[in-house]
Amino acid sequence: MIVPYVNLPLQHQPLKAALLDAVGRVLDHGQFILGPEVEQFEARFAALCGVRFAIGVNSGTDALILALKALGVGPGDEVITAPNSFVASASCIGVLGARPVFVDVGPDYNLDPNRIEEAITPATRAILPVHLTGRPADMDAILDIARRHDLRVVEDCAQAVLARTHDRPVGSLGDVGCFSLHPLKTLNACGDGGVITTNDAGLAQQFKMLRNIGLRSREDCAVWSHNSRLDTLQAAMLLVKLDLLPGWTEARRAHARFYQEQLADVVQTPLDRPFEYAVYHTFVVQAEARDALIAHLAAAGVGAAIHYPAPIHVQAAAAGLGYRAADFPVTMAQAGRIVSLPVYPELTAEQAAYVVEQVRSFYDRGPLPGAADA
Ligand SMILES: *Cc1c(COP(=O)(O)O)cnc(C)c1O
Repeated sequence: MIVPYVNLPLQHQPLKAALLDAVGRVLDHGQFILGPEVEQFEARFAALCGVRFAIGVNSGTDALILALKALGVGPGDEVITAPNSFVASASCIGVLGARPVFVDVGPDYNLDPNRIEEAITPATRAILPVHLTGRPADMDAILDIARRHDLRVVEDCAQAVLARTHDRPVGSLGDVGCFSLHPLKTLNACGDGGVITTNDAGLAQQFKMLRNIGLRSREDCAVWSHNSRLDTLQAAMLLVKLDLLPGWTEARRAHARFYQEQLADVVQTPLDRPFEYAVYHTFVVQAEARDALIAHLAAAGVGAAIHYPAPIHVQAAAAGLGYRAADFPVTMAQAGRIVSLPVYPELTAEQAAYVVEQVRSFYDRGPLPGAADA
């Protein structure tokens, strides 16, 4: 049996006719830039996230850059974020001339709120928590710290569309939420895309201007800015996928539950807390002899991945920040042990059972008692 780590063609086969229809409608009306589908997508995305405003942009990275820019982050400022995230969580700070300040993470792979206050200096302007793997960071604690120190909060929701904590959706909790619609994310464009969410009408106005070269109207440019618009073609196709997202997310969570039940005695599986709804962009376990496990899985036809093998603070781009690898011991220990198992909605029960069988056989463990009737 072959279980690839991702399989986008499989996702798109049953949607192809509907997606091509959506593309055809855009070809017919010809409004490729900020056409009607962009506003329709934004309205539906805002409703999903329980926010007043959603602004479509061209990537999750630009969503983060424009969010920080609108909040006034620039040279001399510091922004606190997690070192174990995708590099864009820090590059968005660096490209504005500000300094990424890393704080180690907890067992949930998210910022450890107990370590945030010691990283705050007079230059700190914002906290940028990442909802890594699709699990919400501890937003109550982070928002409390931000309030006490007068800091803004930008949520990196790139992996966490529809995730909730205490029934509140991510992207509605901080000042701004930033989402990625990259093909490998859980709500995926057929190319690049992103969304910024906020409840602040003033910020929403700014985001519309900042994504559109600083234009207030066709001939009135208020500030220098980027061209970071979401394409109408992408919005049209995303509208097709939006209807399927809740079902896809439930399928991811069902795979995650199965892995949790079947693998907890051989690897360290992630735990769902009763007050949260994690969306499992990735299903990350910590494993002994991780690299040998991945090789064993590959030989058995099972794709696995590492998110991410080299934390941000050890990247060449971060050399000027002066961190040493050992500054974030939890992040470093996890980086040597983490492996992501396939968890996409289209995975069949037989494939998930085969993944379990192969992981267990690597550790010389047979099926769990009763696993055959699962
Ligand atoms: C994917 C991702 C981004 C960047 O999104 P793009 O759309 O690829 O630019 C930022 N942060 C995290 C945590 C991500 O996973």
